[in-house]
Amino acid sequence: MEKSKFDITHKRKLLYKRKRKRQLIFRLCVILSGICILSLILLINNKNYVNKKIAFSSNNEDKIIVCIDPGHGDWDTGAKGLSGSLEKDIVLDISLKLGKILEENEIKVIYTRTNDLLPWVETANDSLKERIRISEIFKADLFISIHCNSNLDDKDSKGAETWYKNNDENSKKLAQTIQNSLKELNYTEDRGLKTYESKDDALAVLELNKNIPVLLELGFLSNSYDEKYLKSDSGQESVAKALSKSILQYVEENKDIISELRKK
Ligand SMILES: [Zn+2]
Repeated sequence: MEKSKFDITHKRKLLYKRKRKRQLIFRLCVILSGICILSLILLINNKNYVNKKIAFSSNNEDKIIVCIDPGHGDWDTGAKGLSGSLEKDIVLDISLKLGKILEENEIKVIYTRTNDLLPWVETANDSLKERIRISEIFKADLFISIHCNSNLDDKDSKGAETWYKNNDENSKKLAQTIQNSLKELNYTEDRGLKTYESKDDALAVLELNKNIPVLLELGFLSNSYDEKYLKSDSGQESVAKALSKSILQYVEENKDIISELRKK
């Protein structure tokens, strides 16, 4: 009797041990399955993320890249307007408005500056060359330098003009498309296209740029009519719209030329 009681207790203990062992194995299996499922989810998500990144970058590479260069900045105020407006502020406002519209139209926009600061100037010997270097680093297809004129000796001087790179038909064509849209806007006189004759007179941002560059002089801040229009929010908005319209038109009509230039 004693012996069988011992056997039963021993058996119960054994059974209990086996039950615990099974429970432990079951819990271990549940934990391992959980880890496997979690790893699988992370793997799938990661794969999707990588795919999305590739898709995004390839899409981005197809975009036309426009470098907008608001002239001057910081200590370099540029021209001073009759009422005290500064060229560096007016061209920055117009540049940001223009960039926003271009971005809304699937253009990738690079700026040489987006505020009054020129952080790169301390390390650059030449501010103009540094602007070109920025457009080269980001592989810009077009380079749009935005400025305003001034002639304090003749305050009647007014009008918009667009400069192109000498002996460069692509630059000239872009300049013509832009100048046409400024003329259509009819806020000032049409001073037409300009270029330089010799390399000594060349504008650095045009001559040294390997993409398709233009430089705009949107009006004379020394002229009260031009200054009033260019410093007003509505005037800046209209100029930005006209510029974006002409840039988009040029891009649309010259995609083949732009993609050829990219290969060089
Ligand atoms: Zn200027």
